[in-house]
Order: sequence, then structure tokens, then C-alpha cells
Amino acid sequence: MMLNPIGLFGGTFDPIHYGHLRTAFELWQQLALSEVRFLPSGSPPHRAETRASAELRLQMVRAAVADQPGFVVDDREVRRTGLSYSVDTLTELRQENPGRSMCLLLGMDAFLGLPNWHRWRELFDLTHIVVVHRPGWKAPALGPLGEVLVDRGTGSVRDLHETPAGKIHVHVPTQLEISSTELRQLIVAGRDPRYLVPDPVRRIILDSGCYASPAR
Ligand code: ATP
Ligand code: MG
Repeated sequence: MMLNPIGLFGGTFDPIHYGHLRTAFELWQQLALSEVRFLPSGSPPHRAETRASAELRLQMVRAAVADQPGFVVDDREVRRTGLSYSVDTLTELRQENPGRSMCLLLGMDAFLGLPNWHRWRELFDLTHIVVVHRPGWKAPALGPLGEVLVDRGTGSVRDLHETPAGKIHVHVPTQLEISSTELRQLIVAGRDPRYLVPDPVRRIILDSGCYASPAR
């Protein structure tokens, strides 16, 4: 008997919002994941500086998941100095969990950027990938991602449980069209993020003023 898969949910979480949380919750339930591990990124290689500090983003993720069993926060990418590459994090996690099924949870937008990731093809030796539909993004039919979808795609949750790595599973969650970018814009404009983020996250945003000033 294999243990249930570990879900790995990386992101800048600048800030974490209900789109992330609802997706993680549905996947935790529907894929029977033993846990969803949130991995806030340190210095993301593929994007501009985050608006909130790594420490504050971590604090918001901790506050957001505190009351949810099965949701855990892993701060290794924030603690690491320098760039964080997913392949390095996953190599570490694989060493810590030999033989265990691991599922990297990626929104469709993030999946489409996968070929730009450092040593991306090696990821399939380390983990499964669960791709989550997001409003406005379409699964690739052609190119390297179209090919890996054909080669590695599976509709079966059982496949994710019975092998440790190498499959791609596409999942359609409740579509919540919330993004951190739009949230930050809304807050800069002086509007209230209530009901888009958990109350403890809203409190941290308002108390710290981390998104209050116009973008640098
Ligand atoms: P930004 O607008 O700053 O890019 P974001 O809302 O996309 O922020 P990220 O931290 O970039 O959030 O996303 C982390 C992961 O969560 C990515 O895999 C992304 O695709 C996924 N994700 C983000 N928002 C949603 C959402 N509303 N529904 C489902 N998945 C989401
Ligand atoms: Mg994003």
C-alpha cells in the first residue's frame, strides 16, 4: 500500500487569496492528497520583485491555512538565499520522501510557462503535475507541452496514487477569477479586499500597509 500523495503548491502568494485556497481544498479532497504543502517562493526567477516581502507573504500564507487540517506551510524557498528553482526544491523533497507520490499543483497559466523553467523535463522524474484550469487560459495542443500532455496525461486519480511521479492530470476546479495582481491593484486604489482573501490575511494587509502605496 502506498501512502496518499503529497500535494505541492508553490507560488509567490503576493497575497494568497481564495482562488488558491479553494483550488487547494478541492484537490486535497478530490485527489485524496494526504496534505497540501504551500511553498511560498523566495526570489522568483521568472518575474519581477514581489510587492510584499517574503517574510510577510509567508506570514499571510500561515494565517490563511492555520485552521485547515491537511494544509501545511513549507518555508524552505523563503529561507534559501538566492534564486529558488522548482527542480532544486523538488529534488530535496524527493530525497525526504523516497518512493512517495508527489503532485505539483499548477494553474494553467503557470503550466504554459513550464518550458521556460530551469531543467523542466527533469521535473517529471521527481513529481506528477496536476494542472488546474484558470479562466482565460487554454491547454496547449501543440509544442513541447502538447507532446508531454499526450505522453504523460492521465484522467485517472488512481495513476497518481500508484506511481510516485511522471504523470500529468488536468483538473477543472470551481473557477474563481481572483488574481493577486488584481487584488494588489484594488488595494492600491483604496478598495477593500474583503471576501477575496481570508479575514486574517486581510488584517495583515491592512495593518502592514504592504500594498497600500502605488507600485514602485
Ligand atoms: P499574480 O497575479 O501575482 O501572478 P496569482 O494570483 O496568479 O498572482 P500566484 O502566486 O502567481 O498567484 O499563483 C500560484 C499558483 O496558483 C499558480 O500555479 C497559479 O496558476 C495558481 N492560481 C492563482 N490564482 C488562481 C485561481 N484563481 N484559481 C486557480 N489557481 C490559481
Ligand atoms: Mg500568477
